[in-house]
Amino acid sequence: MAGEQLRYDGQTVVVTGAGGGLGKAYAVFFASRGANVVVNDLGGSGKGEGASSNMADQVVKEITQAGGKAVANYDDVTNGEAVIKTAIDSFGRIDVLINNAGILRDVSFKNMKDQDWDLIMKVHVIGSFKCARAAWPHFRKQKYGRVINTSSAAGLFGSFGQCNYSAAKLALVGFTETLAKEGLKYNILCNAIAPIAASRMTATVMPPEVLELLKPEFVVPVVANLVHSSNEDETGGIFEIGGGHVAKMRWERAKGALLRADDSFTPGALLNKWDDVSDFSKPEHPTGVANFMELLEEAQKLPPNPE
Ligand code: NAD
Repeated sequence: MAGEQLRYDGQTVVVTGAGGGLGKAYAVFFASRGANVVVNDLGGSGKGEGASSNMADQVVKEITQAGGKAVANYDDVTNGEAVIKTAIDSFGRIDVLINNAGILRDVSFKNMKDQDWDLIMKVHVIGSFKCARAAWPHFRKQKYGRVINTSSAAGLFGSFGQCNYSAAKLALVGFTETLAKEGLKYNILCNAIAPIAASRMTATVMPPEVLELLKPEFVVPVVANLVHSSNEDETGGIFEIGGGHVAKMRWERAKGALLRADDSFTPGALLNKWDDVSDFSKPEHPTGVANFMELLEEAQKLPPNPE
C-alpha cells in the first residue's frame, strides 16, 4: 500500500448513512482528498423512525463550504438503485461504496418483536445488498470497485439485547466474503469492518471520557487504505477498528477429529476423539472448504472407529 497522502481525485465515493457519526467522517475525509462524494442519509431516528433531508444537507454544506464536491441523497438504503443513480447522474461514475447506514432496535430476545427483527435486517442486510447490487454492473464494466461493509463486534461475538443486530452484522461478513470471491477477477475488492466509535449509537452506552478516545476519525484511515487504488489485493478481510487499534480477524479451525464414515461412526466413537474436535494447539486458518475432498479420502482410509 502507498504512503500517507492518499488521494481520490476523479473518483466517486458513495457513503450510506453519511449524515452523522462514522458516515459523516468518511464523507468529509474523501471529499477533502479530492473525491466526489454522495452523502446518503434517510435522516430518521436511531431506531429507524421518520425521515428528513436535514442530516445529509448539513454534511453536504460542510463539505462544499470547505471546497469539496458532494451531493445529497435522501433515499432509504433499501432503495439502492436510487442511491447509486445519484452518483451516476451527478458525477458519471461510482468507484467506492461504503455501506455504513444503520440503526439499532435493542431488546432482549424474549421480548423481540417481528418489527424489531425485520427492520434491522432491512436496513443493514437488504440495504447493503441493494446498494452493492446497483453498483456492481458499474464496477464490473470499469474493472474497478471498492466496497466496505459495516459489521460489528456484536455480530462476531454476540451481544446482550442485540440478537437482531448480531445476526444482521454477521450476515454482512458472509456477504463480504462472497463478494470478495466473485469480484476478484474484476478488480472489485470488498472488506468488512467492525468499528467502535463515538456516535449517537454509542452516546448512551459509554462514558464521555471513553467516547472522547473513540472518535469516528480514528476509523477513517483503515477505510481510506482499503478503498484506495493502491490496495490491489486486500479483500475479504474483517478488520476490528477503534480508538487507534486496528486488527484483522479471521476464522480458526481446530485440528479436528477424523473418523471413518461408516456404521462405526457412532456417538461413542466420536466421544473418544472429542478432544481433537476442539484442539486448537495447531490451528488452521481456512478461507474456504478447499481441502474437504482430501479429508473425505483420508477418512475412508481409516480402520473402523473404536467405540
Ligand atoms: P449513526 O446513527 O451516527 O449513523 C448511522 C446513520 O445511518 C445515521 O445518520 C442514520 O440516519 C443513517 N440511516 C439509518 N437508516 C438508514 C436508511 N435506511 N437509509 C439511509 N440512511 C440510514 O451511527 P454510527 O455509529 O456512525 O454507525 C455507522 C455504522 O457503523 C452502522 O452500520 C453501525 O451499525 C456500525 N457500527 C457502529 C459502531 C459504533 O461503535 N459506533 C459499532 C459497530 C458497528
